[in-house]
Amino acid sequence: MILSEDFISELKARNDISEIVGEYVNLQQKGKNLMGICPFHSERTPSFCVYPANGSFYCFGCGAGGDVITFLRLMEHYDYIETVQKLAQRVGMDFEISEEDNILHNKKLLIYRINREAAKFYHKCLIQDKGNKALTYLKNRSILNKTIVHFGLGYSPASGYELVDYLRKIGYNMEDVVLADLAFKSRGERYIDRFRNRLMFPIIDARGNVVAFGARTMGNDLPKYINTSDTPVFKKSSNLFALNFAKRSGKDNLILTEGYMDVITLHQAGFDNAIAGLGTALTLNQVKLIARNAGEVIVSYDSDQPGRKAATKAIEMLKNNSVAVKVVTIPKAKDPDEYIRTQGEKGKIKFKKLIENSKSDTEYKLAGIKEKYNLENDEDKIEYLTEASKILANCYNPIEREVYAIRLSAEIGVSKSSVLLQIEKYLKQKKKKDRKKEFKNVEKFTSAINDGINVDKRNNLRAAAAEESLISCIINNPGISKGILSKISANDIITGFNKRVFEAIEELVANDKSFDISNFSLYNFSFEEIGRITKIICSYSPQMGTKDAISEYIKIINDENVKNQFKNIENNSEESIKKYIESLKSK
Ligand SMILES: [Zn+2]
Repeated sequence: MILSEDFISELKARNDISEIVGEYVNLQQKGKNLMGICPFHSERTPSFCVYPANGSFYCFGCGAGGDVITFLRLMEHYDYIETVQKLAQRVGMDFEISEEDNILHNKKLLIYRINREAAKFYHKCLIQDKGNKALTYLKNRSILNKTIVHFGLGYSPASGYELVDYLRKIGYNMEDVVLADLAFKSRGERYIDRFRNRLMFPIIDARGNVVAFGARTMGNDLPKYINTSDTPVFKKSSNLFALNFAKRSGKDNLILTEGYMDVITLHQAGFDNAIAGLGTALTLNQVKLIARNAGEVIVSYDSDQPGRKAATKAIEMLKNNSVAVKVVTIPKAKDPDEYIRTQGEKGKIKFKKLIENSKSDTEYKLAGIKEKYNLENDEDKIEYLTEASKILANCYNPIEREVYAIRLSAEIGVSKSSVLLQIEKYLKQKKKKDRKKEFKNVEKFTSAINDGINVDKRNNLRAAAAEESLISCIINNPGISKGILSKISANDIITGFNKRVFEAIEELVANDKSFDISNFSLYNFSFEEIGRITKIICSYSPQMGTKDAISEYIKIINDENVKNQFKNIENNSEESIKKYIESLKSK
């Protein structure tokens, strides 16, 4: 798929990057640029920068960077064509792709269709005789028919070939069914259903596409729950169950649970803002997705030990991404599903009460440690105070800290001021630690020591700096690029990554193409590498582009080349001695 350069540049000109990034990130003006909290990694002080002048962004904390197209792709996990389509739609530009235009895009559409057919097939099986066991399971859990239909629940037959046969009959290619992770090929070259004898939960994205399935066994096989593996349309770590419904609930908070059945029972009881992860521990991508959809989350995990551990971890991650957290503790039941079911008619009202009485995350953590201590005992009191102060030092709100300090002082019988003093001590330690951590993170991506993108940099610091300045000058001043390229070529560039960038520049010039970031994507640069190119471009300042400065960069690169050759002579390589003499002659 080749889109014309004019089209892309108009598209980018009309889709202002600060506006689009601003839909996801709270940006603050800093000089000519805008800064905000990076949406791609966890941080508390902003290191994410938007450069409106050249329509790009770069994060000094994690190295993500690129143009508005790259941003939307990373943010929404769209493919290239989808992104262009969205941006074109947004500003009313005509954009149509023909059937054969993009193979990956068409494959995705195909997988959506296959998934939808599979969901319909599973649903039919659930209400037939063969689905009896699964249907009984749902009925035993008081799930109503309308809920079954609402969530599109289904049953995958035990035989192991019924879905495959059905999809083949209606015209789908088996290889595509495998790509959708609905079948696999046996050693005997037969196609076999991936899900067998399981209750099926379709996972639907915000646009209404069936992207994957969760599946609970109706037999004794393990694991009890399985999911679709990652496919071209699904990434387990970046999706949430029922977010499509929760988004439409009109509520400004979400109830986060652990399981599919919790979500379904809650929705049936009217809590249609309930969501769940997909069976594994909450991932950073899922947390970012939650943060984009709600300012507050009510965590309602299982009440057993693993559930509490998982809740503590989820709370930490949510808070680190600026989501306010509350925690529901469920009395005398394993999980929200069981609680609502066993309370019968009153389940709904009682759960609503639980939500109204949900604790702040700090309260939840304090209650968790209090259980360990006997507060009649002085030693226990001191340890409790120490541990509680550490928790309170993690509160970002000073009023909240004060409120708990008062409560704590009454509880253990010490003055409020001494509790606050203790908290202050940990607060200072924590601030120092946080700053150090974030500084280290930024340093990691800006220093050469850990440079995973340009690995040659650490041994060629001087050359790499000159190369980067030169590249920045060329890209920011296309008019003088031909002149510079007549004096120096990619062969002279010493460090590997910069050499590749330089080669791309040479080809773009030869093909009469602009230095637009999206044009660099044509040369197999990864997202991280595009981020680095963006950083090089954005580090430009006018004094870097003077004639003298440019001559200096070229001189440094030439010097470093000679030095490197000299180093080889010290290693007594005969060939390099010859080369060195040649190079001296040509100077
Ligand atoms: Zn970042």
